[in-house]
Amino acid sequence: MQTRSVVLACSVRGCGQPLLPSQDRRSWRCARSHCFDVARSGYLNLLQPNERRSRAPGDSEETVAARRRWMKSGRSAPLIEAVRERTLRLGLGRESAVLDVGCGEGTLLGSLQMEFGFEAYGVDISQPAIDAAARRWTDCGWIVANADIALPFQSGSLDLVLSITARRHPQEFARVLKAGGHVLYAVPAEDDQVELRERLHGEAYQIDRLPALIEAMAGFELVESARCRWQNTLDRESYEDLLSTAYRGARDAQRARLERSASMVITSSYQLALFRKQLT
Ligand SMILES: [Zn+2]
Repeated sequence: MQTRSVVLACSVRGCGQPLLPSQDRRSWRCARSHCFDVARSGYLNLLQPNERRSRAPGDSEETVAARRRWMKSGRSAPLIEAVRERTLRLGLGRESAVLDVGCGEGTLLGSLQMEFGFEAYGVDISQPAIDAAARRWTDCGWIVANADIALPFQSGSLDLVLSITARRHPQEFARVLKAGGHVLYAVPAEDDQVELRERLHGEAYQIDRLPALIEAMAGFELVESARCRWQNTLDRESYEDLLSTAYRGARDAQRARLERSASMVITSSYQLALFRKQLT
């Protein structure tokens, strides 16, 4: 775990002091002596005990493995390419700092960092996800934290926040971004996984619509919105991987209804929205 220009913030409630590494780089400490050990794989766990809703919050090891197989199979490549294109257009390079909120097992951020060389941080509440990310991409900073509560960065330190099918916290995004910094969202569109929802007919499905997103982003202007849509033909194994990542909370009855077929075509569809933090 290393930082270049970004300064981390202590996650103890009400503290927020800068966190600095010890000489041997095995722990990070603030001026009030709150101390966090670096994990063997190199990530930093800043999650406070009172910030977890369960003993092991976020994705389990099995879900992380399914997600990584899914990413490795290239079935999310159009979304990764859409994010990559926009990162390129923003002109981000070695001097820039990027945060991926809800980064999961890290394939998106890790591959972008390799290409662009920026200072990169991935935050997720799942320890297995962050551990997998830290083992694979050692040039990024990986942090376990609850982004719904606070982001462990000093104010005004980042150029881009990615929230790719992840959490939204506009006030925190605005705080950690530099003036003129950007937020890129990808949220599921109405027809995302429509084939699965047809099987679950009658089940309520929450869609993140663009107008609601724009309304939530006070202090930002919408720079661009676009659709990213493609289809995958799934074999049995990748279909299982999709179910265990997208429907991990599903009840047995739902799973049974979903698990009927051996192979099928599934639509992936996302609304992309790029916002810029206003200068004043
Ligand atoms: Zn502290």
